Amino acid sequence: MPQLIPTDLEAARIINAAGTLTRLSGAVVSERVAAAMAAAAQCSFDMWALQAAASQRIAAATGAEAGLVTTGAAAGLTLAAAAAIAGDDIARMQALPRSEGLANEILVPRTHRNGYDRALAAAGARLIDIGTADRQTDAGVRGLEDWEVETAITPATVAILGNASAATEADLPLLAAVAARHRLPLIVDAAAQLPPQANLTAPLAAGATLVVFSGGKAIGGPQASGLLAGRRDLIRSAALQMLDMDVPLRSFVPPAAFFGNHRPTALPRHGIGRGFKASKEAIVGLMVALDDFLARDEASAEADMRSRLERLKDRIAGPAGISIELISGRRPGALPRLAIDFAPAAAVGADDVCRALRRHSPPIHVGEGFVASGRLIIDLIATRPVDDEVLAVGLAAALTRVRNP
Ligand SMILES: *Cc1c(COP(=O)(O)O)cnc(C)c1O
Repeated sequence: MPQLIPTDLEAARIINAAGTLTRLSGAVVSERVAAAMAAAAQCSFDMWALQAAASQRIAAATGAEAGLVTTGAAAGLTLAAAAAIAGDDIARMQALPRSEGLANEILVPRTHRNGYDRALAAAGARLIDIGTADRQTDAGVRGLEDWEVETAITPATVAILGNASAATEADLPLLAAVAARHRLPLIVDAAAQLPPQANLTAPLAAGATLVVFSGGKAIGGPQASGLLAGRRDLIRSAALQMLDMDVPLRSFVPPAAFFGNHRPTALPRHGIGRGFKASKEAIVGLMVALDDFLARDEASAEADMRSRLERLKDRIAGPAGISIELISGRRPGALPRLAIDFAPAAAVGADDVCRALRRHSPPIHVGEGFVASGRLIIDLIATRPVDDEVLAVGLAAALTRVRNP
């Protein structure tokens, strides 16, 4: 095997048993996706035509009218906000992210807010909090009600934002109904809601106007890729604000996937999305990954993951005070994971083990979300099966380190 990754860069390689975290480089693509990306890198494309072809596939996969490959779900949120503010108005596109004097408010339930929603603010949107978190803070029994959304709408409102997580998806039909009554787009963040495959179509079926997914998480696409899908005119606006538009109007052939019968009378200059352009490698790679994701037999993918985890569990079980169990994913249809729980009296603690794993060669990363309560999570979605053995040896050593130094 020739050394393809230069040695100094290869030195940063790790074994990622923590899931498709961005700081740990997201998904690991299949051979087929890697080969498609390498082939695309050696070709030239008309980027509008390439995105138009991708649009057809994204539309078929999500139930949307049109779609766009972005550099991630966060980029998709920025472009969705830019589309909601600007529509087909190129003077507004040109103004963004400055949005003084423009309708720029996006309503979001307090219980749907997360650290990624500033991606919408990056386009010039002002996020307006609505509702309360009474149920989540144990201060009351009522969730979001439609009057709370309804009464927050003003002439400055351009969209409503919702989150498709297991904790918040039940609000989506309510948000969709209010949005439809007021002819406002409902933007839904479904970045990490896959698998199951059914969640590709669920947000639009629930009434979302635009939805974003990460390409570099469970779909198994290039790390810096994502999908934006939804209403054709808004996808067109997003495309106009991301793609290189430095072309004379008379030579621009508007692809039907985005333009339908709409004929632009002028073209914007570089838009707000120009700094996060999706590459040809990302577009081709993500479309091949999406194809494979859709063709996957979910029951056997789940069974395969279960048996990898069982094998790993058998290899590392044993040390006193440490219990290991298979746990289900974050929502129905998500892949199982392994939880390693450390009793207070165990010879090693969860954080000792994390530190030891970091010193392993190559370093091993595991899920640390619950380390404070003595639990580590093993998620193999971004671990190549060929690395399972190295992971098992490294984990077993770290778990027994103190007893058998
Ligand atoms: C990961 C994530 C994002 C960002 O996705 P990228 O594809 O990394 O840009 C946005 N929202 C949620 C809920 C996420 O989990």
